[in-house]
Amino acid sequence: MSPSWRKTRKPKPKPAAPDLGEGLGPRDLSDTSARGPQPPAQIRVGPYIYRVEVSSEWYNTNDGRTDSEICKLWVNANLAPCMQRETLWHEVMHAAWNYAQLGTDDRGEEDVIKFLSPVLVQILLDNPALVIYLTAK
Ligand SMILES: [Zn+2]
Repeated sequence: MSPSWRKTRKPKPKPAAPDLGEGLGPRDLSDTSARGPQPPAQIRVGPYIYRVEVSSEWYNTNDGRTDSEICKLWVNANLAPCMQRETLWHEVMHAAWNYAQLGTDDRGEEDVIKFLSPVLVQILLDNPALVIYLTAK
């Protein structure tokens, strides 16, 4: 038998998700299905909409790829979900680097992104209130 106060308590309403357009909104990070949360089909970087492809036919030596000329990001589907997430973020950072025109020094770009990408994913994952605050309209 449950206490009487439970019967009168109303469920707390969920905060409305910000409307970022089709395929551009934040995903539910509480998805704990075996495959893990799925990446968005599209990601906006500056004025550009990048298409995202998670491919199981993977022949590249890297686990992800960015082609800013055709606005497309690829991620190796054979990676664990947590690695796919970090790899996608890594590729998003390449797209942001390109948009910001930070130069074509490949080595510097790769080193900066390799250093920042994992810690930025950790910050986003561990601070959902920050993500909601930053993405609110
Ligand atoms: Zn890279």
